[in-house]
Amino acid sequence: DAGLMWFRRDLRPEDNAAFAQCLAACRQVHAVFVFDRAILGTLPRRDRRVEFIRESLVPLDEALREMAGSPAAGLVVLHDLAEEAVPRLAAQLGVQAVFANHDDEPAALQRDAAVRRRLAAQGIALHTAKDHTVFERGELLTQTGKPYSVYSPYRRAWRAKLDAADLAPHRTRPRAQALAERPPAHRQPIPTLAELGFERTNLADLPLPAGIEGGQALLKDFLARIDRYQDARDFPAQRGPSYLSVHLRFGTVSIRELARLALERERGGSAGAATWLDELIWRDFYFQILANFPHVADVQGNGHSFRPEYDAIVFEDGARAEALFAAWCEGRTGYPLVDAAMHQLKETGYMHNRLRMVTASFLSKDLGIDWRWGERYFARQLNDYDLAANNGGWQWAASTGCDAQPWFRIFNPVTQSERFDPQGRFILQYLPHLVGLQGKALHAPWQAAPLELEAAGLALGTDYPRPVVDHAGAREETLRRYGAVKERA
Ligand code: FAD
Repeated sequence: DAGLMWFRRDLRPEDNAAFAQCLAACRQVHAVFVFDRAILGTLPRRDRRVEFIRESLVPLDEALREMAGSPAAGLVVLHDLAEEAVPRLAAQLGVQAVFANHDDEPAALQRDAAVRRRLAAQGIALHTAKDHTVFERGELLTQTGKPYSVYSPYRRAWRAKLDAADLAPHRTRPRAQALAERPPAHRQPIPTLAELGFERTNLADLPLPAGIEGGQALLKDFLARIDRYQDARDFPAQRGPSYLSVHLRFGTVSIRELARLALERERGGSAGAATWLDELIWRDFYFQILANFPHVADVQGNGHSFRPEYDAIVFEDGARAEALFAAWCEGRTGYPLVDAAMHQLKETGYMHNRLRMVTASFLSKDLGIDWRWGERYFARQLNDYDLAANNGGWQWAASTGCDAQPWFRIFNPVTQSERFDPQGRFILQYLPHLVGLQGKALHAPWQAAPLELEAAGLALGTDYPRPVVDHAGAREETLRRYGAVKERA
């Protein structure tokens, strides 16, 4: 039999569930990746993710040719509507089955259902497999058979269910000889960014190497400091986290490999590894929330409150809200930690987890703006944008989610700044012109004495904004805003 492996967000040949199945089941194996016009059409012309994917396809293609031992083998790369192109290619190649890994985002489910229908009409099967998470969908349920909506019991159940087989790699090598040559019409090189209609970004200047090797390099770097993870991870000026999120997003690393390594280190006594494994479990947790509670996001990727009563919250709207939102996006709120974080996002496509919590809380609870505006902005900017994790993170911060921050707990952006960036090293990385400020003044410049500002060469309102809101007042307003909904519920 002949089969077609459809690579999507799993851009690696090793330890790839669907690819391993395809190789095991088929004598002849073809491989395709589609730059989907349905997705690319919605993106800005400079998008680091498109570039990251393109850069990651090059080593994937090389690895496939190497496995096949033939330059005529390798990846067919199309720029088309995936929904139509995959069934068309499957028919051209004369395969009996298409293989792909699960993607539970609403738009992907819709696309896959359409592909399945079209393939079925041609007598071709679509086989899909779990690959992106350790446990998924309904695999972990409470004693009453319901999906989990609270993290701690989910984590306990996850750890109790786990056995070595769940983390074992899907071996692909034995049938590598099955990789077929590409038909002559599909032997073009991988399209360039320009051919895809995109422009280069600053990706090459960032410490974010793409592809399988890039993932392995970041992993190696992280494993050397994983034992300190739990102490370092909350301080954005330190190299605490792994920076592997983009690789998890596009599957240039395997979640099983990461969880396996973390578990090994944890068993060897590493508290850092244990904490990190818990973060990987948070990832699984939000994936299963999206799969089991699909009302949290629609097909366009826009969020709806996990707890529907919170959809009644009346957020700020109109011109003032638009202006505050623009100040937040552009890092001009007058709160240095928030502004530095928003600059980090814009300039690098990454934002430290602590700062995602701080900026999300600031938008929804200090500016009183609908968290969905922020969710959409993050979706455009984050290299690691993942609907499940982003929606989960935003709903956590805005207190509308499952197992969220309680609604009356409101981060104080100045206290957060003093606690997690005590010397202001992170702030100064993105707002170097504040270098003359010290101590409290760096975290809350409006509280600086006039002489201090003068010595630092800063005029508030000119060189750096005055705060766009007063935290204490905003806090009262948020308590009222949320309280009104709680009373009615
Ligand atoms: P590490 O600390 O090294 O963590 C390792 C991995 O664990 C991460 O790569 C990620 O896959 C997973 N992980 C860690 N924390 C979380 C979490 N809270 N929820 C789910 N998974 C987690 N993560 C995304 O991958 N994509 C998003 O779009 C996203 N949006 C977020 C939005 C908000 C408002 C918040 C508060 C968090 C969001 N997160 C998102 C979660 C988290 O901030 C990032 O996963 C993390 O900062 C990525 O950096 P890292 O790989 O260096 O993390």
